[in-house]
Amino acid sequence: MASTAIVGINWGDEGKGRMVDLLTERFDMVVRYQGGGNAGHTVINEYGKFALHLLPSGIFRKGVVNILGNGVALDPESLMNEIGDVAAKGVAVTPDNLKISERASLLLPWHKLLDGLEEQRLADKKYGSTKQGIAPFYSDKYQKKTIMAGELFYPDVLENRLKDLMEWKNLTIEKVYGAEPYTWEQIKAWLDTACEAIKPFICDTGKLLRRAQKEGKRILFEAQLGSLRDLDMGIYPMTTSSNTIAAFAPVGAGVAGADIRQIVGVVKAYSTCVGEGPFVCEMFGEEAERLREAGAEYGAKTGRPRRVGPVDLVATRYGVEMQGATKIALTKLDVLSDMARIPVCVRYKVNGQETDDFPFPTELDRAEPVIEYAEGWQRDISGARRWEELPQAAQNYVLMIEKAVGCPIAYVSVGAERESIIVR
Ligand code: GDP
Ligand code: MG
Repeated sequence: MASTAIVGINWGDEGKGRMVDLLTERFDMVVRYQGGGNAGHTVINEYGKFALHLLPSGIFRKGVVNILGNGVALDPESLMNEIGDVAAKGVAVTPDNLKISERASLLLPWHKLLDGLEEQRLADKKYGSTKQGIAPFYSDKYQKKTIMAGELFYPDVLENRLKDLMEWKNLTIEKVYGAEPYTWEQIKAWLDTACEAIKPFICDTGKLLRRAQKEGKRILFEAQLGSLRDLDMGIYPMTTSSNTIAAFAPVGAGVAGADIRQIVGVVKAYSTCVGEGPFVCEMFGEEAERLREAGAEYGAKTGRPRRVGPVDLVATRYGVEMQGATKIALTKLDVLSDMARIPVCVRYKVNGQETDDFPFPTELDRAEPVIEYAEGWQRDISGARRWEELPQAAQNYVLMIEKAVGCPIAYVSVGAERESIIVR
């Protein structure tokens, strides 16, 4: 398989982790190019069940080199905890199979604090942040007020830089939020523990990847979240603070000329959304509760119940376009097996007019879903491994989505386990 990006088409939690874990078999390297520890990528394989936050989902495959690119929000403390968690289940993480870009910026201790303080200040107007410090981190990165991982190797320069940053940040912490400022002892302790621990993993990963590409190695670019959470193309301001789309992968991985031939867009067979923000196709009441239960839709990172709805053809078509997806992996088809008829959001109605186009974010609050129903199959399909083994109604449902979004569905996932997949 040529170099490939695996991306989310919708609001996130489409099953990217599951697809990366499956497909890594055919790759030499897996790179996370954006986002941070706010991800929750579920992987179930021979080692057990994992919710990966920052570690690339190729970490379970022997011989695969996993990379945290310059575009990620690198929280040394969370990363070391996560490495500890997977190591406890028998997965060795060493500088051979995990490499951190020397250009990845560090998520500093105050980023998490400020994330929480701002959500508290916003009260009922909050964004629904996972409080992993992501928004304060990216704001500071673009303000050039954080440090790069590689700077850890220059302690004399670093201490003064960090002291200046702390002094600046304490102004906001104390004077804006009235909270307790940081002391240098606290920051020094963080440097001496978590930062010290990640040092062996840090190197020039951009150079490594560029060389790998020249040598014809296969690289997999793993996105976090989905198209609709992309900072530029998503439902701003209810987006994340980084670019989730495949077009950003070359930047966030440090391979300007990345030769990405395939973009696999992961779409769930129905819709889910964690946190606040417009979600036009949202279902409520008993019908929603049944779908949430059937799909076990509770956040992998936060445990929050996910909002649910039918598959949204308008949002999905837009997501596919924003990603430039060349193939779709449709996940969780098995979850719909009990339904006699399956709701589908086919269009939106905005200001009394029906439309196929995904509206400007401000209009989303006024949009209503137009629902039609597809025939259900009411049969367990979790054992299907070939397209022909799917009931006709299930095949029709897949084909209906494929036609509506204009992108071939190459994979149909019918269970969370690695082997529960149909390759078309
Ligand atoms: P990600 O953030 O895109 O990696 O997705 P998450 O891991 O947050 O959420 C996807 C959830 O669906 C996880 O609990 C997976 O184990 C589960 N899952 C993935 N594919 C399937 C599938 O085809 N069927 C079922 N029943 N569960 C699936
Ligand atoms: Mg997730």
